[in-house]
Amino acid sequence: MAHEDCIFCKIIDGEIPSAKVYEDDAVYAFLDISQVTKGHTLVIPKTHTKNIYETSPEIASELFERIPKIANAIKKAYRPIGMNLLNNNEKPADQSVFHLHIHLLPRYGKDDGFS
Ligand code: 5GP
Ligand code: ZN
Repeated sequence: MAHEDCIFCKIIDGEIPSAKVYEDDAVYAFLDISQVTKGHTLVIPKTHTKNIYETSPEIASELFERIPKIANAIKKAYRPIGMNLLNNNEKPADQSVFHLHIHLLPRYGKDDGFS
């Protein structure tokens, strides 16, 4: 169920526009508004869950099951030479949006902006 005042729930519902990378019944993937590297994508479960601590095994497996396919689509579209997966949980660890998300960060070499 959509969580009140959650920007990622609003993105899933289409209330806030986003550049869709992938969507199915359980997962939505879209370009991060602040592209740390070209093709920087966020993958989120459609069910609102605050972060990894509050995520059920079912939601976690639905989410991670899709990631190889999404990573390969990004690899094909942007041709990076590598990719980092990143997940921040709680403010001290730089979580700024409290709807679980996995960053997919395509890498292009030493000076690609992500360090
Ligand atoms: P966090 O810091 O919580 O790990 O990552 C949140 C990410 O969400 C940030 O990289 C930020 O740029 C992205 N973000 C925040 N608001 C929006 C938005 O309205 N649209 C999109 N596409 N990305 C957003
Ligand atoms: Zn949400």
